[in-house]
Amino acid sequence: MEAPKSNFSEWYNEIIELSGLTDKRYPVKGMNIWMPYGFSLMKNVDELIRARFYSDGYEEVMFPSLISKGMFEIEFEHIRGFEKELFWIAKGGKDSLEEDLAMRPTSESAIYPMLKLWIRDHGDLPMRLFQIVQVYRYETKHTRPFIRSRDIHFIECHTSHRDYSDAEEQMKLYREEWKSFTGAICIPFLEVKRPDWDKFPGAVYTIAFDTLMPSGRTLQIGTIHQYGTNFSKNYEIEFADENGVGKNVNQTTFGMSERLIGAIVGIHGDDKGLIIPPDVAPIQIVIVPIGTQGPEMEKFIKKLENELGKMGLRYKTDRDDRYTPGFKFNQWEMKGVPLRIEIGEREVQSDSITVSRRTKKGRNKIPVSQLSDLKNELREVSKELFARAETILRSGLEGKMTGSLEATIRTAFVCEKQSCATALEGKYDKTMMGAILNYGSNGKCEVCGEDGRTSLFSNPY
Ligand SMILES: [Zn+2]
Repeated sequence: MEAPKSNFSEWYNEIIELSGLTDKRYPVKGMNIWMPYGFSLMKNVDELIRARFYSDGYEEVMFPSLISKGMFEIEFEHIRGFEKELFWIAKGGKDSLEEDLAMRPTSESAIYPMLKLWIRDHGDLPMRLFQIVQVYRYETKHTRPFIRSRDIHFIECHTSHRDYSDAEEQMKLYREEWKSFTGAICIPFLEVKRPDWDKFPGAVYTIAFDTLMPSGRTLQIGTIHQYGTNFSKNYEIEFADENGVGKNVNQTTFGMSERLIGAIVGIHGDDKGLIIPPDVAPIQIVIVPIGTQGPEMEKFIKKLENELGKMGLRYKTDRDDRYTPGFKFNQWEMKGVPLRIEIGEREVQSDSITVSRRTKKGRNKIPVSQLSDLKNELREVSKELFARAETILRSGLEGKMTGSLEATIRTAFVCEKQSCATALEGKYDKTMMGAILNYGSNGKCEVCGEDGRTSLFSNPY
């Protein structure tokens, strides 16, 4: 590692390649390679989300990645919101296509024409679908792996309901699910209701989940949208109620992306490299043998591996004899493995292991008979990561963030009028992100004195 974390932008660009998450040399702008270590991390996050969605009763689908121009243009407000970001395919071989095809930037316009065919009556509702796919956006701003790319790993839920209040219940469920996902990756967040002029194109309202990066800039890492009947009217998605009366369904969506990885890297890492939350770490425990590795030690390690496997832990033994233990320690610290186990002569003799946490200095001896303590150690790492990240977020909200920051956040009471938000945007030289629902309180608007809410002003990624 060359750049310290205080030089956040350089640090970030360096660590994502050094640690083996990505390779930025792919010669198409904004499109990066998921290297095995990075893909394994993303896969663990996906699996966590997938498991919760299945247990909450969603069904997984996989739609085509191309959308015809006609399908896309059904919802006008929606297409206007995306038209500058679309990649278009106009040719197949040497032939011009009959109709241009867009690469999906999100999948409303792919899924909703099919919902029109699938949904018949109230018995089909609620219908709750999700998919984990790549989406494509022609980003013209500066691209950065996991934060702003053109080929985005995306998780999207689309639900249909008989009425608005059932759709509102769904919005509550999303918020609970979000809390569990971000708890597992140790990322605190703000629930920010985007102002009307900045909501998702076509939505009734949007709640974004913003987190604070060490640079002082906010990162939107998830969004939920209430569509009401805005899309279903345009796509003619109707159901017959108990009396046979045709009604438009109410819809919601939930979107998350590889930005979750960007947040893990940016928020938890330090000068030595990544620190990966145990619940999603590709390798939770690395075992480093010290000194001569005779048959006795090998037998000891085999037994240990067997036990860790039975406990359901993800481990790796670094037997590479080209490198010294010290070098290996640095490498695995840089890759952010939460726990390290050292095995030398002394450990073998005393039937114990020496454990160190990535989040803390010092070592700890554990008898082999008490290996279940390792699960506690992993839980402690998670707790430490969450507590640290929360301290940063709070210090930002309280205006106490210090250091060489590109920017920092501000909060202020603002009402819902755009003119008041604009006035404060100018004053702070930041963007009004919206009212914070899970932090702050109600108060008089700083500009006009009417009823307002603690609102977030930031320089977002
Ligand atoms: Zn006001």
